[in-house]
Amino acid sequence: MAINYHMPLYRPPSEGENLIIQATLGCSFNNCTFCSMYHGKTFQPRALADVMLDIDQAASEWPQARRVFLADGDALVLPTSHLLKILNHLSLRLPKLTRVSSYALPGNLLKKSVAELNLLQEHKLTLLYYGIESGSASLLKKIRKGATPEGMFEGLIKAEEAQIKTSATVVLGLGGQEEWQSHIDQTVDLLQKAPVNYLSTLQLFLEDSVRERFLSGFKAGFKFQDDRGILAEQYRLIDRLTSLPKRAVFRSNHASNALALAGNLPKDRQRLLMEIKAAQDGAANLRPAFLRSL
Ligand code: SF4
Repeated sequence: MAINYHMPLYRPPSEGENLIIQATLGCSFNNCTFCSMYHGKTFQPRALADVMLDIDQAASEWPQARRVFLADGDALVLPTSHLLKILNHLSLRLPKLTRVSSYALPGNLLKKSVAELNLLQEHKLTLLYYGIESGSASLLKKIRKGATPEGMFEGLIKAEEAQIKTSATVVLGLGGQEEWQSHIDQTVDLLQKAPVNYLSTLQLFLEDSVRERFLSGFKAGFKFQDDRGILAEQYRLIDRLTSLPKRAVFRSNHASNALALAGNLPKDRQRLLMEIKAAQDGAANLRPAFLRSL
């Protein structure tokens, strides 16, 4: 019998081939104005006994599983002792386990000590997906992210100190036509000092249900970027990322993106810029709008 997931179920694109275990339901914050992912779910930690049963079930069907993603929106919100029980059970039932990952909110990382994070890392929680969205303090306020660039930075430093890898996302289009340059420039400022192992861009994609709420954050009005504007943001971001605290794998392969890119930064910067330029000149195909989604 397969695991009976509580839908909807979201996971990063890179976790598509891995085992997913729901440790929590929904998002403990659930307030970012651009995000509708967990509006239909009341946040709750799942009962440990139910999580263990899912792990047992998965292990009986897929005992060779090596990588596990803990869903939903921010499993890292769970108390460290609770997470350790889940991690111990995963290691017990999946002898080939090499990596456990989850989404993490800035607040999750700020609440845990480096010692706690390090303990989790030693129990194979070695990768966190972290939504930076923007390095602009004013934009973060407008989208009610509940975090500041300084808090984002502090969280990433803690993860680094605990030797947990981080995969950060930036949302292109978030500042609209008015604030796109400051959105990108301040994001670059943050990324040039924050140590991330993976960096991806998403593209602003609003479900109808959140559109009004998102727009209400922009009192002076908001003009959406078109594809040309998004490509200009993508170009500016990569062009200005001339130095990073450490080498980062870059991807724009999320289903929301018009242009899929992949490379290492800063090594492949020039090649990525050429690919964006080709798209700007019409020499590369963009993903049709009807195929883009959350
Ligand atoms: S963007 Fe992330 S933190 Fe914000 S509401 Fe959505 S799932 Fe929660």
